[in-house]
Formats: sequence, C-alpha cells, structure tokens
Amino acid sequence: AKKQGKNRFYWFEAPMENELRFRNKLESGIRAGIANGEFVPYYEQQIDLETDKLVGFEMLARWESPELGVVGPDIFIPIAEEIGVIGELSEKLIAQAFEDAKQWDHQLTLSVNISPVQMRDPWFAQKVLKLLVKHRFPPHRLDIEITETCLHENIGMVRSMITSLRNQGVHVSLDDFGTGYSSLSQLRSLPFDRLKIDRTFISELRADENNTALVDAIVAMSDGLKLPITAEGIENEAIHEVLKTMGRMKGQGYHYGRPEPAAKVLERLSAQELL
Ligand code: C2E
Ligand code: CA
Ligand code: CA
Ligand code: CA
Repeated sequence: AKKQGKNRFYWFEAPMENELRFRNKLESGIRAGIANGEFVPYYEQQIDLETDKLVGFEMLARWESPELGVVGPDIFIPIAEEIGVIGELSEKLIAQAFEDAKQWDHQLTLSVNISPVQMRDPWFAQKVLKLLVKHRFPPHRLDIEITETCLHENIGMVRSMITSLRNQGVHVSLDDFGTGYSSLSQLRSLPFDRLKIDRTFISELRADENNTALVDAIVAMSDGLKLPITAEGIENEAIHEVLKTMGRMKGQGYHYGRPEPAAKVLERLSAQELL
C-alpha cells in the first residue's frame, strides 16, 4: 500500500468484508499457531559498551507461520492481547526461552518483554515464579521488561508486582523509556533495576553532529536515580562510539546483529566459547 500507483483505489476500497475475513483468519491462525508451536523466540545480543563483550540476549517473539512466513510481534501481539491469549502465548515463549538460555554460558542474561495486559493479572509474579522453578532457571539471569505505557495502569498494583518479582531475585527494567509519560517522581517511586532508552532517541545520535543533548540528559538523570541504562537500536559504528563516551551502559541493535533463532545463537556462542 506504499506505492501510489494506478491501483491505489483498489487497496483503499477493498471491501470491509475482505478485511474482516483476513482478521478472522489471523485470529484463528494465531490460536492454531500457539497450539502447533509456530511461535518461537528469536534473540538479540546485548553488549556491555565498556568492554564490548556480549552480556545477554533479549527474546523477541516471531510467528513462523506456514502460510504467512515469519511474522513480527507488532502484528500478532496486539491481536493476541485482544483475543485473550497473550498470557498463554507469553508463558510458552518464556518456557522455551528458559530451555534455550540454559544452554548458554551461565553469565549471560535473558530479557523478556511483558504486555500491559499481563501486568493486570494479579497472579503474574506467581506465574513467573512457577516457570522459573519448573524449568530450574536462575531468577537472577532473568530481566523482565515493562514498557512505559504500563505505568498508566494502576500504579500501586504495578509497584507491588515489581516488588514481588524482585523479591524472587528477578530483575525488572523500564522499556521504551522516553516514549511515554512517566514522571520523575513515578520513576523514583518504582523499584526498577534498569532503564532502556528507546531507539528513537538513539537513532538521532550522529558522531559528526552535536545532537547528543537528549541522550545526555537521560544519562544524567539515570545517574541521579542510580539506574543503569541500556541503549537500544544502535545501528552503526558511529553511534556505538558516541555512546561509549557517554558513560557505562549496555547496548543492543542491528550493529551487533539481527534477532536470530536459538540454533544461530548456539553457533555464535560456540564460536565465542560461551557455551
Ligand atoms: P522492543 O522491546 O522495543 O524491541 C526492540 C525492537 O527493535 C525489536 O523489534 C527489534 O528487532 C528492533 N530492533 C533492534 N535493533 C534495532 C536497530 O538497530 N534498528 C531498528 N530499526 N530496529 C531494531 P521486534 O522484534 O519487531 O519487536 C517489536 C516489539 O514487540 C518489541 O519492541 C516488544 O515491545 C514487542 N515484543 C517482542 N516480543 C514480545 C513478547 O514476547 N511479548 C510481548 N508482550 N511483546 C513482545
Ligand atoms: Ca524490549
Ligand atoms: Ca523500544
Ligand atoms: Ca516495545
């Protein structure tokens, strides 16, 4: 639908009926895909920018649909939330990720993303604990990423959720920082372990220009709050170099590698003697 050719009106005037049919197909495809194990974890490297060493991976879900090919989470997560299967889907993915990560060097951490819908489940922390025990995964290797939009929810409930996760030894990060509306006082009152600066701020950085002001400010603030930082969306060497001068932090992005399936991660780790 990007190219505006002769055919564009066909696209816009596609009968509603077709859209509905496609949506229904997606919904039933997602339900069937969960049952058939078509949802799989991919992993993106996380680097310590001080040492340039690999320190862990973020799990990013993919739908390997026999019909549609590899589908990204921006398509299926919102639908899974709407049709009430996000909890089940997420638990399956996390269970698989625990099994994958158990094969890695035990220093390497595993980050997972959690939907705001799951944050509304009063049993969420319990469910995470159950999974950790069932798969014998060390809690301190797990980092749960909560997006800033979760802070619009009942803040008391969010706080007690974070607290019970941390009491189990799990780390909790604030994801997509800077894209929402969290206030400084909210940030100070919630016991996060880490801030992840959203990639929209990182992609603004250029070595040859001087527009580091925004990221500088976030770094200064995180120093003040004593919260370590991860910068996401590092796409090239220049940005990597700029960030290295801004203080101690972790980084991730296409510069280090695309998200890749478990088997590729094992190859990478075996080459680096990190198995
Ligand atoms: P996110 O947590 O902000 O994850 C980073 C996204 O940026 C990923 O997209 C990743 O592939 C992409 N990315 C990484 N490095 C770069 C880069 O250098 N440049 C650019 N342009 N993009 C980069 P992806 O995998 O499509 O995931 C999109 C979002 O879906 C994630 O955003 C996360 O919020 C959500 N998500 C992924 N897996 C899950 C899951 O299992 N559960 C839930 N609830 N959400 C998930
Ligand atoms: Ca994330
Ligand atoms: Ca982000
Ligand atoms: Ca996100």
